[in-house]
Amino acid sequence: MQRLILIIEDEKPIVDILKFNLERENYKVIYAMDGEEGLSLALSKAPDLILLDVMLPGMDGFDVCRRVREKSTVPILMLTARDEELDKVVGLEMGADDYITKPFGVRELMARVKAHLRRTDKGTETKESQVIRFGEYSILCDRYEITRDGQVVELTLREFELLKFLAQQPGRIFTRENLLEQVWGYEYFGEVRTVDVTIRRLREKIEDNPAEPRYIITKRGVGYYLKAE
Ligand code: CA
Repeated sequence: MQRLILIIEDEKPIVDILKFNLERENYKVIYAMDGEEGLSLALSKAPDLILLDVMLPGMDGFDVCRRVREKSTVPILMLTARDEELDKVVGLEMGADDYITKPFGVRELMARVKAHLRRTDKGTETKESQVIRFGEYSILCDRYEITRDGQVVELTLREFELLKFLAQQPGRIFTRENLLEQVWGYEYFGEVRTVDVTIRRLREKIEDNPAEPRYIITKRGVGYYLKAE
């Protein structure tokens, strides 16, 4: 099935480069050149992945990201012109799955697009009906869902992958570098803080008191593990 990619970017030359390369890989591409239109396409067309520029006229990329996240767990890759730590952290806080600094290499970008789509593919292609349980939670691997006492908890794909990874080996401590490599899974430019931000967001979603987590535990100076009760 042809996957649909939404590009939200106000610089036409960048739209053209992205569109050309994505179409060459047989993706269907739609695009918007401002945040409002982008948001409306994101919600009405249900794309499989969104490439989202940060600096946009009107509503900026962070706002678009936050608004899309209220409704959808679609993978969002943010494009940032400035190699600023702040942008990356803000983007992740808003629920982006990944960020790419402009100017970017087309090959690197395509590799990341594919990596994210592969993750969503897995859910439909393999028939693993594996369920991992901890506490009052169930991770339904084939449905990419996590439930708490039967109620679905909304997680982004990355949050889901991270939680699933930790839950597969409860009690085992993983370093942040470990998690970057295993969960982000490709040449991710070494931002271990990305792991911390994602862990914090996960805790906010699954812990009753994120300041005193019961499940996702920090091993000081080492990393993180999941405590199965
Ligand atoms: Ca821009």
